[in-house]
Amino acid sequence: MILVFLGPPGSGKGTQAKRFSADKRIPQLSTGDMLRKAIASGTELGKSAQEFMSKGSLVPDEVVIGLIRERIAESDCQSGFILDGFPRTIPQAQALDALLRGEGLQVQAAVLFEIADRVLVSRLTGRRTCLKCGAMYHVETMRPRKPDVCDQCSSQLVQREDDREDVILKRLAVYHDQTSPLENYYREKGILEPLDATQTPDTVYTSLRRLLSSG
Ligand code: AMP
Repeated sequence: MILVFLGPPGSGKGTQAKRFSADKRIPQLSTGDMLRKAIASGTELGKSAQEFMSKGSLVPDEVVIGLIRERIAESDCQSGFILDGFPRTIPQAQALDALLRGEGLQVQAAVLFEIADRVLVSRLTGRRTCLKCGAMYHVETMRPRKPDVCDQCSSQLVQREDDREDVILKRLAVYHDQTSPLENYYREKGILEPLDATQTPDTVYTSLRRLLSSG
Protein backbone atom coordinates (compact mmCIF):
# COMPACT_ATOMS: atom_id res chain seq x y z
CA MET A 1 0.00 0.00 0.00
CA ILE A 2 1.71 3.19 -1.20
CA LEU A 3 -0.27 6.34 -0.48
CA VAL A 4 0.35 10.04 -1.10
CA PHE A 5 -1.36 12.52 1.25
CA LEU A 6 -1.74 15.80 -0.61
CA GLY A 7 -3.06 19.11 0.68
CA PRO A 8 -2.17 22.58 1.88
CA PRO A 9 -0.27 23.13 5.14
CA GLY A 10 -2.68 22.74 8.08
CA SER A 11 -5.17 20.59 6.18
CA GLY A 12 -4.65 17.77 8.69
CA LYS A 13 -2.78 15.39 6.43
CA GLY A 14 0.02 14.92 8.99
CA THR A 15 -2.40 14.15 11.84
CA GLN A 16 -4.38 11.72 9.69
CA ALA A 17 -1.23 10.12 8.25
CA LYS A 18 0.10 9.41 11.77
CA ARG A 19 -3.17 7.79 12.80
CA PHE A 20 -3.53 5.73 9.65
CA SER A 21 0.11 4.68 9.93
CA ALA A 22 -0.43 3.38 13.47
CA ASP A 23 -3.61 1.53 12.44
CA LYS A 24 -2.17 -0.09 9.33
CA ARG A 25 1.33 -0.60 10.72
CA ILE A 26 3.00 1.03 7.77
CA PRO A 27 5.37 3.99 8.22
CA GLN A 28 4.42 7.60 7.66
CA LEU A 29 7.18 9.38 5.78
CA SER A 30 7.11 13.13 6.33
CA THR A 31 9.82 15.09 4.53
CA GLY A 32 9.02 18.06 6.82
CA ASP A 33 9.74 15.92 9.93
CA MET A 34 12.94 14.56 8.34
CA LEU A 35 14.14 18.08 7.54
CA ARG A 36 13.29 19.37 11.04
CA LYS A 37 15.28 16.48 12.53
CA ALA A 38 18.25 17.37 10.31
CA ILE A 39 18.00 20.98 11.52
CA ALA A 40 17.82 19.89 15.17
CA SER A 41 20.91 17.72 14.80
CA GLY A 42 22.81 20.52 13.07
CA THR A 43 23.74 18.58 9.91
CA GLU A 44 24.87 20.37 6.73
CA LEU A 45 21.64 19.30 5.06
CA GLY A 46 19.69 20.79 7.97
CA LYS A 47 21.56 24.08 7.77
CA SER A 48 20.88 24.54 4.07
CA ALA A 49 17.23 23.41 4.41
CA GLN A 50 16.57 25.86 7.25
CA GLU A 51 17.11 28.85 5.01
CA PHE A 52 14.30 27.74 2.71
CA MET A 53 11.98 26.51 5.45
CA SER A 54 12.09 29.61 7.64
CA LYS A 55 10.96 31.69 4.65
CA GLY A 56 8.18 29.27 3.73
CA SER A 57 9.86 28.28 0.45
CA LEU A 58 10.36 24.74 -0.77
CA VAL A 59 13.66 22.96 -0.22
CA PRO A 60 15.25 22.05 -3.60
CA ASP A 61 13.80 18.96 -5.29
CA GLU A 62 17.08 17.00 -5.36
CA VAL A 63 17.43 17.28 -1.56
CA VAL A 64 13.99 15.88 -0.70
CA ILE A 65 14.10 13.28 -3.50
CA GLY A 66 17.41 12.05 -2.01
CA LEU A 67 15.82 11.81 1.47
CA ILE A 68 12.87 9.81 0.16
CA ARG A 69 15.02 7.56 -2.01
CA GLU A 70 17.07 6.53 1.03
CA ARG A 71 14.08 6.23 3.33
CA ILE A 72 11.94 3.98 1.13
CA ALA A 73 14.86 1.59 0.69
CA GLU A 74 14.69 0.80 4.44
CA SER A 75 13.23 -2.52 5.51
CA ASP A 76 10.17 -1.12 7.33
CA CYS A 77 8.87 0.24 3.99
CA GLN A 78 8.55 -3.25 2.47
CA SER A 79 4.80 -3.58 2.97
CA GLY A 80 4.04 0.02 2.05
CA PHE A 81 4.16 3.57 3.34
CA ILE A 82 2.30 6.86 3.52
CA LEU A 83 3.96 9.91 2.00
CA ASP A 84 3.03 13.02 3.96
CA GLY A 85 4.23 16.29 2.39
CA PHE A 86 6.00 14.60 -0.51
CA PRO A 87 5.81 15.04 -3.47
CA ARG A 88 5.27 18.80 -3.53
CA THR A 89 6.25 19.57 -7.13
CA ILE A 90 5.74 17.84 -10.49
CA PRO A 91 9.46 16.91 -10.75
CA GLN A 92 9.22 15.28 -7.29
CA ALA A 93 6.15 13.29 -8.37
CA GLN A 94 7.91 12.17 -11.55
CA ALA A 95 11.01 11.16 -9.58
CA LEU A 96 8.83 9.18 -7.17
CA ASP A 97 7.10 7.37 -10.03
CA ALA A 98 10.48 6.53 -11.57
CA LEU A 99 11.84 5.24 -8.24
CA LEU A 100 8.78 3.04 -7.72
CA ARG A 101 8.67 1.86 -11.32
CA GLY A 102 12.21 0.55 -10.87
CA GLU A 103 10.82 -1.77 -8.18
CA GLY A 104 7.69 -2.69 -10.13
CA LEU A 105 5.57 -0.55 -7.78
CA GLN A 106 3.25 2.44 -8.07
CA VAL A 107 1.28 4.92 -5.98
CA GLN A 108 -2.10 3.40 -5.18
CA ALA A 109 -3.99 6.56 -4.22
CA ALA A 110 -3.34 10.27 -3.75
CA VAL A 111 -5.69 11.57 -1.06
CA LEU A 112 -6.43 15.28 -1.48
CA PHE A 113 -7.25 17.08 1.80
CA GLU A 114 -9.59 19.87 0.65
CA ILE A 115 -10.08 22.97 2.81
CA ALA A 116 -10.34 26.75 2.35
CA ASP A 117 -7.29 28.97 2.99
CA ARG A 118 -9.05 31.11 5.61
CA VAL A 119 -9.55 28.10 7.89
CA LEU A 120 -5.91 27.13 7.56
CA VAL A 121 -4.47 30.38 8.90
CA SER A 122 -6.21 30.00 12.28
CA ARG A 123 -5.40 26.29 12.45
CA LEU A 124 -1.71 26.90 11.84
CA THR A 125 -1.17 29.92 14.10
CA GLY A 126 -2.60 27.86 17.01
CA ARG A 127 -0.60 24.75 16.20
CA ARG A 128 2.07 23.48 18.60
CA THR A 129 4.51 20.77 17.53
CA CYS A 130 6.80 18.32 19.29
CA LEU A 131 10.12 18.58 17.48
CA LYS A 132 11.22 15.25 18.95
CA CYS A 133 8.40 12.90 17.82
CA GLY A 134 6.45 15.12 15.40
CA ALA A 135 3.15 14.97 17.38
CA MET A 136 0.89 17.97 16.81
CA TYR A 137 -1.50 19.88 19.06
CA HIS A 138 -3.64 23.01 18.91
CA VAL A 139 -3.94 25.63 21.65
CA GLU A 140 -7.76 25.50 21.47
CA THR A 141 -8.93 22.39 19.68
CA MET A 142 -6.32 19.74 20.54
CA ARG A 143 -4.66 20.63 23.83
CA PRO A 144 -1.95 18.45 25.35
CA ARG A 145 -2.68 17.02 28.82
CA LYS A 146 0.01 19.25 30.36
CA PRO A 147 0.45 22.72 28.82
CA ASP A 148 3.27 22.79 26.25
CA VAL A 149 4.38 19.22 27.01
CA CYS A 150 4.03 16.38 24.47
CA ASP A 151 1.59 13.62 25.60
CA GLN A 152 3.59 11.00 23.70
CA CYS A 153 7.22 11.68 24.67
CA SER A 154 7.09 14.47 27.34
CA SER A 155 9.26 16.83 25.27
CA GLN A 156 8.64 20.57 25.13
CA LEU A 157 6.13 21.71 22.48
CA VAL A 158 7.02 24.68 20.31
CA GLN A 159 5.44 26.93 17.77
CA ARG A 160 7.23 26.11 14.53
CA GLU A 161 9.13 29.04 13.10
CA ASP A 162 7.12 28.67 9.89
CA ASP A 163 3.72 28.60 11.70
CA ARG A 164 3.72 32.40 12.01
CA GLU A 165 1.17 34.33 9.99
CA ASP A 166 3.46 35.96 7.41
CA VAL A 167 5.23 32.67 6.68
CA ILE A 168 1.90 30.79 6.58
CA LEU A 169 0.61 33.11 3.85
CA LYS A 170 3.80 32.47 1.87
CA ARG A 171 3.46 28.68 2.34
CA LEU A 172 -0.14 28.81 1.08
CA ALA A 173 0.95 30.79 -1.99
CA VAL A 174 3.71 28.24 -2.62
CA TYR A 175 1.15 25.42 -2.30
CA HIS A 176 -1.19 26.96 -4.88
CA ASP A 177 1.65 27.76 -7.22
CA GLN A 178 3.93 24.70 -7.02
CA THR A 179 2.02 21.85 -5.35
CA SER A 180 -1.59 22.16 -6.53
CA PRO A 181 -0.61 21.13 -10.12
CA LEU A 182 -0.16 17.66 -8.57
CA GLU A 183 -3.95 17.44 -8.21
CA ASN A 184 -4.24 17.23 -11.99
CA TYR A 185 -1.21 14.98 -12.24
CA TYR A 186 -2.87 12.35 -10.04
CA ARG A 187 -6.38 13.01 -11.41
CA GLU A 188 -5.14 12.19 -14.90
CA LYS A 189 -3.73 8.93 -13.58
CA GLY A 190 -7.18 8.17 -12.12
CA ILE A 191 -5.94 7.86 -8.52
CA LEU A 192 -6.92 11.24 -6.97
CA GLU A 193 -9.26 10.78 -3.98
CA PRO A 194 -10.67 14.11 -2.70
CA LEU A 195 -11.55 14.29 1.01
CA ASP A 196 -13.44 17.03 2.89
CA ALA A 197 -10.84 18.14 5.46
CA THR A 198 -12.96 20.80 7.19
CA GLN A 199 -14.58 18.38 9.66
CA THR A 200 -13.23 17.32 13.09
CA PRO A 201 -10.19 14.99 13.08
CA ASP A 202 -12.38 11.97 14.05
CA THR A 203 -14.89 12.61 11.27
CA VAL A 204 -12.15 13.12 8.70
CA TYR A 205 -10.53 9.88 9.85
CA THR A 206 -13.77 7.94 9.42
CA SER A 207 -14.12 9.29 5.87
CA LEU A 208 -10.48 8.50 5.14
CA ARG A 209 -10.85 4.88 6.27
CA ARG A 210 -14.00 4.47 4.22
CA LEU A 211 -12.40 6.00 1.15
CA LEU A 212 -9.29 3.85 1.34
CA SER A 213 -11.10 0.62 2.05
CA SER A 214 -13.41 1.07 -0.92
CA GLY A 215 -10.70 2.35 -3.26
P1 AMP B 1 5.71 20.40 6.37
O1 AMP B 1 6.11 19.93 7.72
O2 AMP B 1 5.32 19.29 5.44
O3 AMP B 1 4.69 21.51 6.40
O4 AMP B 1 7.03 21.03 5.71
C1 AMP B 1 7.68 22.16 6.28
C2 AMP B 1 8.65 22.78 5.28
O5 AMP B 1 9.65 21.81 4.91
C3 AMP B 1 8.03 23.22 3.97
O6 AMP B 1 7.46 24.51 4.05
C4 AMP B 1 9.26 23.19 3.04
O7 AMP B 1 10.11 24.29 3.28
C5 AMP B 1 9.99 21.96 3.54
N1 AMP B 1 9.54 20.74 2.84
C6 AMP B 1 8.89 19.66 3.37
N2 AMP B 1 8.61 18.74 2.43
C7 AMP B 1 9.09 19.24 1.27
C8 AMP B 1 9.10 18.79 -0.08
N3 AMP B 1 8.54 17.61 -0.44
N4 AMP B 1 9.68 19.58 -1.02
C9 AMP B 1 10.26 20.74 -0.70
N5 AMP B 1 10.27 21.26 0.55
C10 AMP B 1 9.70 20.52 1.52
